[in-house]
Amino acid sequence: MAEPSIFTRILTGDIPGEILLETERIFAIRDINPQAPLHVLVIPKTEQYRDVTELAAGDPGLLAEIVEVAKRLADEHANGEYRLIFNNGASAAQSVFHVHAHVLGNFEENKLVG
Ligand code: ADP
Repeated sequence: MAEPSIFTRILTGDIPGEILLETERIFAIRDINPQAPLHVLVIPKTEQYRDVTELAAGDPGLLAEIVEVAKRLADEHANGEYRLIFNNGASAAQSVFHVHAHVLGNFEENKLVG
């Protein structure tokens, strides 16, 4: 059997991580290398889908739950506004092949970023 992903290892407590929110099918952790004042990863508990293309085809409801959780996090930790990013494939800078959404927020007001 394949090794658990780094995210699953955080979920099971095998390695440390700050879990901000957990639902039946999803959990959210702070990114260890934040690219914005708020940078959280929203991750399905299942490792079945490697990227959002597979997730959208296989379980669109779970993808919608990720968006709902992203909005909840933005409401709790930002002003309700957020950037949502999925990297899909190594050449698109994906490094962990257990689908996850990057939720970024609290960019400096009136400053365009990236
Ligand atoms: P990239 O590494 O290019 O951002 P991904 O989209 O696959 O590619 O994102 C993986 C994310 O997981 C990265 O933002 C990285 O900082 C984060 N990460 C890696 N290890 C940990 C960890 N132990 N705890 C929290 N976040 C982590």
